[in-house]
Amino acid sequence: MARPKCCRRVAGEPPCQIFKPAGVPASALDHVVLSMDEFEAIRLADLDGLYHDKAAERMKVSRQTFGRIIEAARHKVAEALVKGLALRIEGGEIEIAKMRIFRCMKCRHQWDVPFGTGRPTQCPSCSDASICRAEGQRGRRNAGEACPRGRS
Ligand SMILES: [Zn+2]
Repeated sequence: MARPKCCRRVAGEPPCQIFKPAGVPASALDHVVLSMDEFEAIRLADLDGLYHDKAAERMKVSRQTFGRIIEAARHKVAEALVKGLALRIEGGEIEIAKMRIFRCMKCRHQWDVPFGTGRPTQCPSCSDASICRAEGQRGRRNAGEACPRGRS
């Protein structure tokens, strides 16, 4: 019996939901569906460079489960690239995490931290402690905490 996959946590929706080879109408293409949790796994492991245990923690799944998700995700992306298929990003048993955005005032690195995990104490990129809350589309409600502008 399959265990329920409910509520893998993802940090946000992808900026677009379909990728396809240029110049070919979507109707003429086969497509692969990448679920939102698979998309999130690629974002965490391959773009942000998180280790699997950290990425699993973010998504609230076990490390083994994360390993399976990322493996399936990479296979689908590879298949789309190699075979020239359209790639659709949709679905999956997920919940969207509310994120706070922080910015380093020294190196300007910007990163997301899920709510409920505490305020970071240093920049993950340069380890400097001068960080502040960045204003962003997901942090509007707390704009009062936004970075001071035009000062250095
Ligand atoms: Zn920094």
